[in-house]
Amino acid sequence: MATSESKAPNESKASSNFIRNIIEEDVKNNKQEKVVTRFPPEPNGYLHIGHARSIWLNFGMAKEFGGECNLRFDDTNPEKEDQEYVDAIKEDVKWLGYQWSGEVKYASDYFDQFYAWALELIKAGKAYVCDLSAEDASKYKGWATKPGKESPYRDRSVEENLELIEKMRAGEFDEGACVLRAKIDMTSPNMSLRDPTMYRIRKASHHQTGDKWCIYPNYDFAHGQEDSIEGVTHSICTLEFQNNRPLYEWYLENLPVPSTPHQYEFGRLNLNYTITSKRKLKQLVDEGCVNGWDDPRMPTVSGMRRRGYTPESLKFFCDMVPVSKSNSVIDVALLERAIRDDLNDSAPRAMCVMNPLKLVITNFAEGEVEEMNAPAHPSKPELGERKLPFTREILIDKSDFTEDTTLSRKKFKRLVLGEWVRLRGAYIIKADEVIKDDSGEIIQVNASLVPDTVGNDAPEGIRPRGVIHWVSAEHGVAVEVRLYDRLFNHAEPDKDEDGFMSHVNTDNLTVISAVIEPTAAVCEPESRFQFEREGYFVADRYDHSSEKPVFNRTISLRDTWAGK
Ligand code: ATP
Ligand code: MG
Repeated sequence: MATSESKAPNESKASSNFIRNIIEEDVKNNKQEKVVTRFPPEPNGYLHIGHARSIWLNFGMAKEFGGECNLRFDDTNPEKEDQEYVDAIKEDVKWLGYQWSGEVKYASDYFDQFYAWALELIKAGKAYVCDLSAEDASKYKGWATKPGKESPYRDRSVEENLELIEKMRAGEFDEGACVLRAKIDMTSPNMSLRDPTMYRIRKASHHQTGDKWCIYPNYDFAHGQEDSIEGVTHSICTLEFQNNRPLYEWYLENLPVPSTPHQYEFGRLNLNYTITSKRKLKQLVDEGCVNGWDDPRMPTVSGMRRRGYTPESLKFFCDMVPVSKSNSVIDVALLERAIRDDLNDSAPRAMCVMNPLKLVITNFAEGEVEEMNAPAHPSKPELGERKLPFTREILIDKSDFTEDTTLSRKKFKRLVLGEWVRLRGAYIIKADEVIKDDSGEIIQVNASLVPDTVGNDAPEGIRPRGVIHWVSAEHGVAVEVRLYDRLFNHAEPDKDEDGFMSHVNTDNLTVISAVIEPTAAVCEPESRFQFEREGYFVADRYDHSSEKPVFNRTISLRDTWAGK
């Protein structure tokens, strides 16, 4: 049984990786000409953060050791698979920054070869057609502590088996009527060796092979042979395949395969507050909890991309998590930290007022525009400067102003009636007067600026409480901002009997109308920014245009969930 442990963020160094050690040793001993790995997704959904981990490991190891990594679709389940998923997976791998070796490969490329090998096993008396119903087959299988029973069809002659498999292939039997099984050992303590199914009848069209086949190999009869055909040297997979390794090896030993891959298993990546299962993510999509697989709330690669994650942040995250031989649950805060760190370093700054309040600077002439300059990034002069038009009417955030003069300077580092604050990149101002509507809500603040304070320290006797962001009311651009929260409100949405669907955080999207500094509105989709004092945001991949800007919040500046 796999263990589960919580990992705290560890920023010190790239984590340990026992797979790297194995490959390093093999390279040192010239065990193979070239390291060949592969990433083998089943195209039955979009890739998630767990797959990103596997991609990072497989492509990363190949790259590190000057080898190659194949992208191979394990497409042995036509009913659940789709071309849409194939296309999305290819795009995700490329977006993550990896290039597969040669053409994309498919298990279905090898269906002819697999069939020929199945015939060879039959001819060698090592496979047979079995007519037991699924229910009976399961009864015959026994369980871990009880040996199985041999099928009454086990001793069919080679001729009869060859005739029956040909009829299966030709579509003469109904689905479920029979299967082809390997003849191994019904008493083996390893259940996967108790005459496993090799082929079953599925009268389904296949996204790659169309209607050519109505029998499909089981994954177990494909996995090892695919690796062998492709000359994979290090077949890296997750722990659930450990028990099946003897079966893969049995097929490799009993077939004239061109090479012998070696399989290594590592622990699956699980994240708290997150689901990493395509089947379950599909349920969220199908039941309308999200707007598709690439919804920014989804832990899919395309969802995280749309949310504003960078490929670098995902790789950085993978680097921090040890590759271990047990399954573990990693704190999602580590992933969030990876994107914060990356964007803090790379994202240009902009000012965006989320909850605008009009502020009139009474000693600044109407119609006048003063151009302020601010660095695009505080520590990257190479990113240049941005121009901020300053006007008599500006907008500040409602939460940055209060009439409550009793709040201490420590508690409220913003604008208080009768006191001073610095406008980021511009003047120090003083709040003089408040205008309210009939209901008593503040609708305007009148303020006065302190002359000569742009780029200069405050004069004697004037102590601004802090720095706040602002946008010219006249020049600012209205933007739609989508604020996302976590998809699940439970650390282990999957763990209790209520099931993960009952832990969906229904209050996970707030759409607001904000105002942004003018130059930032004019940007390409997927441009990323730090909106000062608010968080990291990305121009939506699909809905954003300079005429109608739409930004998604990638992540807040600080972890607001800590201590919740
Ligand atoms: P899912 O349950 O989400 O469908 P899967 O393992 O069935 O996952 P595949 O498409 O078969 O998905 O996976 C392709 C590769 O990605 C496999 O080698 C698998 O081991 C690896 N993988 C999938 N999930 C994870 C995970 N959470 N952590 C690490 N590797 C993973
Ligand atoms: Mg799978």
